[in-house]
Amino acid sequence: MTRIALYPGSFDPVTNGHMDILRQSLALADKVVVAIGIHPGKKPLFSFEERVELIHTSAVAEFSEAEASRIEVIAFSDLVINTARTQKADYLVRGLRDGTDLDYEMQMAGMNGTLEPDIKTVFLPASPAVRHITATLVRQIAQMGGEISAFVPEPVADPLRRRARPD
Ligand code: ADP
Repeated sequence: MTRIALYPGSFDPVTNGHMDILRQSLALADKVVVAIGIHPGKKPLFSFEERVELIHTSAVAEFSEAEASRIEVIAFSDLVINTARTQKADYLVRGLRDGTDLDYEMQMAGMNGTLEPDIKTVFLPASPAVRHITATLVRQIAQMGGEISAFVPEPVADPLRRRARPD
């Protein structure tokens, strides 16, 4: 049986925190579908295509070839749980950084579990080294000219610097 995990988020851009959850998800599932949420009206720093590319190049740089080949990246604009259903996912994966994440994620898991009892939400704890990382702060630091290499995979650093401060 192929176990499929759906890992939804904005990934604008993918950070070391996301990569940590992705690494943990690959140990739990045979296939991990990274689902990039597309919100009409919200202007991301990176386009969907760019975010896919950054996830793929980061996965190839940090994981084995066999692991990277078990990752698929898709876009979604539907409810997460409907996307999980169409992807035939067994689990929804979410990362937990702190109590604020937990409160929100418990609500989401409860609602999603009611809508679709067969798809379980799995919470994965952030590794201590990356638990402070949020994509929002990483974007802000880059936009103000700060050094972001400690927060993002190597293939993301240059594109992020260039995009955040175009000259
Ligand atoms: P962010 O919250 O950084 O803007 P997303 O909205 O893309 O990122 O988050 C997608 C998922 O990744 C969520 O489950 C979130 O909790 C998880 N995540 C993001 N950053 C981290 C981190 N540093 N450690 C663990 N999980 C994280």
